[in-house]
This record gives sequence, C-alpha cells and structure tokens, in this order.
Amino acid sequence: MSAVPLRNNKAAASAARAVSVLGATGSIGDSTMDLLRGAPERYQVEALTANSNVAALVKLAREFNARFAAIADPDLLKDLQDALSGTGIECGAGESAIIEAAARPADWVMAAVSGAAGLKPALAAVDRGATVALANKECLVCAGDFFMQRAVSAGARILPADSEHNALFQALGSGNREELVRVIITASGGPFRTWDSADIERATLAQALKHPNWSMGQKITIDSASMMNKGLEVIEASYLFGLTPDEIDVLVHPQSIIHGMVEFSDRSVVAQLGAPDMRIPIAHCLGWPDRIVGPSARLDLARIGQLTFEAPDFNRFPGLKLAYDALHTGQGATTVFNAANEVAVAAFIAGKIRFGAIARLVEATMNAWVRSGNLAPLSSADDAIAVDHNARSKAATLLPQIAAKAS
Ligand code: NAD
Ligand code: MG
Repeated sequence: MSAVPLRNNKAAASAARAVSVLGATGSIGDSTMDLLRGAPERYQVEALTANSNVAALVKLAREFNARFAAIADPDLLKDLQDALSGTGIECGAGESAIIEAAARPADWVMAAVSGAAGLKPALAAVDRGATVALANKECLVCAGDFFMQRAVSAGARILPADSEHNALFQALGSGNREELVRVIITASGGPFRTWDSADIERATLAQALKHPNWSMGQKITIDSASMMNKGLEVIEASYLFGLTPDEIDVLVHPQSIIHGMVEFSDRSVVAQLGAPDMRIPIAHCLGWPDRIVGPSARLDLARIGQLTFEAPDFNRFPGLKLAYDALHTGQGATTVFNAANEVAVAAFIAGKIRFGAIARLVEATMNAWVRSGNLAPLSSADDAIAVDHNARSKAATLLPQIAAKAS
C-alpha cells in the first residue's frame, strides 16, 4: 500500500478546509500563501511557522487571521507575542512550537521548512493522519523509509509538491505499478549546464544563485547549480513511489516545461507540462482530488517553440552520481549524503570552500561513513537524526582538508 494516493477516486469533496503552512515565509511558503490569498473563503489558516523572520510571520498571521503562529528561534518569543498582542492569535517559539503547529488540527499541511529541520514537524502532521503537501525533500532523503511507513500506518496522504514529483504523481495514475518501466525527472541543468569543469570548480556564489528558470530559496538554488538538487530528487522519488534506482532517470531539459514523465510497458510515455512556476504543483496539491483555478501563466508552446533534451553529465556534476551511489547503498547513506551536502553548501556560502569542493566533501563524508561500517538500517526518526548529526560532524571535521586541497 502506498501513502501517495495515485488513483483519484474523487471521493473527497473540496469543502472549506483548515490549512497550515510550515515554512510560510520561504519561497514555497510564499507561493502557497499566494494561492490561499486567491480564495480566502475556502481556507481557514490554522498555523503558520517561520525560522527567525518575525516581521514576515506576523504580517502573514494577521493577514490570514491564523489561529497559531510559531517561530523556530526561541529567543524571539517575546517579539512575536508583542507584535501579535491584541489579535487573539496564539504564539509559540522553539522547535517544539513548530512541531505543535504541525500537530494542530489542519486538514491540509504544507511542509516547506528547508533542510533536515523539516523532518520532525512533517512527521507530526503525518502521525495525525493529515494530508501533507510535501515540499521538504530532505525529510524523505533523510528518513524516507519510515516516513512513508508512518504515513501508511497513520492513514496520512502524502501529496508530492516538488514539481518533478508532482508531475510523476499526476502521470503515474495512467497505469499500474506492474506496468511501470521507469520514471524520468527533468533538470534544467542550472546556470552551469554548458560550463566546463574548471569553470564550475571556481564558480562564485553570485553565479550559483543565478538560476535560469526557477525562483527559489538560496539552498535549493545552489543545489540546482551543482545538480545535487536532482540527486536529492532521485532519492526523493525512490522513497515516495517505492522505485529502485534503475527505475529513475534524469533528463536535462533546459526549458523546464516538462517536469516529469512515466514510461509504461506498452511504451507510452505520459508527461506533465507547465510553466516553471511552483504555484502550479502546489495548486495541484491544494485542490487535490479536484483542480482549482490557478493564477499561473498558461502554457504557450508555440511561443516557446522548442523543447530540447540532453543526457546528464556525471563527470561535470559528480553530485548526481553520488546520489545514485547513496541510493544503492541504502537509507543511512542517503541521510549522510543530505547532511554532508547541507554542511558543504553552508561552507560554500560562507566562502570557506570552492563550488567544486561541495561534491568532494559529500563524497569524502560518505566514504568515511561506509568505512565506519555503521550501516544498520534506520528504524526511527531519532536514528535518522543521529546519523544526520554524526554526518554533519564528520563533514565539519573533513572540511579543512577538503578546503585546502585544490581539485
Ligand atoms: P526557503 O529557504 O525559501 O524557506 C524555508 C522556510 O523554512 C522559511 O519559512 C524559513 O523561515 C523556514 N525555516 C528554515 N529553517 C528552519 C528551521 N530550522 N526551523 C523551522 N523553520 C525553518 O526554502 P524554499 O526554497 O521555500 O524550500 C523549502 C523546501 O521546499 C526545501 O526542502 C526545498 O528543497 C523544497 N522545494 C523548494 C522548491 C522551490 O521552488 N523553492 C521547489 C521544490 C522543493
Ligand atoms: Mg524539484
């Protein structure tokens, strides 16, 4: 049984519903709030959360008359309380408050905290059987096996919000699991698609942040430039849909119009297309099992003219290869892959390592973990968090030598 409801039986009527947005002040949060703004009578906002931006959280909480607002930084509780005093909106601060926000009774929860910090809040929503629109891919990469098992046990529905996975979600219903041959997720190729390895090695932060098609948060934009994001998405697809690494292909498609495709045994390939606008997959999750009227631009293929495709280059983008390696090794390895990448990206942003060293740090951390022989499967969220923490410290220890070594 799958927690992703592939067959759409239209059983649930789309009445006005209570919704919560975890990571409301981020890029996905912003797109989600924009959709909610489009039909305020259909949604009651239960909880909104943010990391440290009190002003942005307060603005949204007031606008949407949320019942609860939570800020992750515990030192900001007083600021939040002062700014919301007299509104009747309850406040909380710290990790426990973010988890409480997820646990409060909303029918639909957008899980859009960035990074592994999103795991526990997403699990809190899953455990009470909510419908969870899942943008946070790291929680699947970190703990996908039991995240999906917990969703099945709790009767939660996971609606994939990541554009490629949402495309697969829309296409997979065209056939059965036994009829599936493979899925294909597309990648824009990022800003360095045509660059040679030496230039990629020395790319600056400003260059890495110039995504050709998508406007996203900083971490995922850098991951797109290294194609680590596509690696995370291969892993994400594996856990979400129960696919082996060999059943998941990546195809570089610079226009970002086709987001995902599914090939079936009769050689039919079913694709989902749309402008590169995250409000489209989020609208699909928000409306599911119906479709809402979205605010995004309509697709004009005659104007676009050409859709082109290339095979991914594992040499210039070694992070993608490492993701497949991690997936072959198993759940703990994908947890290490993600943790090391988070450390590496933070080090790159801080100017401590070159762009090319991101993949080298991830590889060195994964190798050290495999050598440690500690490959037991993860059986709880705490197991995953322990592996995540160990991998972060290992990556931090390896950082100086990786930084010192030129490629
Ligand atoms: P972002 O950095 O723009 O926003 C992250 C949100 O999480 C913010 O509201 C921030 O306040 C909150 N947050 C950050 N750290 C936190 C912590 N420790 N505790 C609690 N809250 C915290 O990120 P984003 O681009 O919106 O991405 C969010 C998630 O969605 C990521 O997992 C990303 O991979 C995924 N995703 C994003 C896009 C996109 O287009 N931006 C597309 C697909 C998937
Ligand atoms: Mg994506």
